[in-house]
Amino acid sequence: MGDSAVRLEDLFRKSGSDIGVKDIGLDDEPIGLGLEGERFDLKCPECGAGMQLRPSKHGLFYGCSTYPECKGTHGAHPDGSPLGIPANKATKLARIHTHRIFDRLWTGHGETPPRMERGEAYEWVRKAMKLSREEAHIGRFDIAKCERLQALVKKKYPGVQTVWDRLGTLGDDDDD
Ligand SMILES: [Zn+2]
Repeated sequence: MGDSAVRLEDLFRKSGSDIGVKDIGLDDEPIGLGLEGERFDLKCPECGAGMQLRPSKHGLFYGCSTYPECKGTHGAHPDGSPLGIPANKATKLARIHTHRIFDRLWTGHGETPPRMERGEAYEWVRKAMKLSREEAHIGRFDIAKCERLQALVKKKYPGVQTVWDRLGTLGDDDDD
């Protein structure tokens, strides 16, 4: 992984008195859409610049303020609040990869018989990774958590493998 300035805690840090519209370079822009859940402190998962809530025909989304230079986006709820924790491409790939490995535990997918019930598998993850129910969603994992879960699954069940493992790739973040 490249050395990224974007940290998960930064992305979801509550807007404090020290963080204003000016700090994220939006001082010459209208002050957003004025929605209840709108955030001004969201940082682009691709480049770290500020993000702005924007309307589109598919609904609201956060787009990188440096668009069109950077095309980072993140989903938004109808009230303007961000949809989950923004992730860059590498993190999204890691989550997908992790989900595939994890799902093998309870689906089997024909390669191996299921090892656990679905609920059991989620319970096992929570315990093994010491996560709260709230945290125990692969969709909220950062890359470190993804790698930890993959390692745990492989340690528990060395036979568990996906096509991704055989290709030996997690993707490269530096393709643009
Ligand atoms: Zn960006």
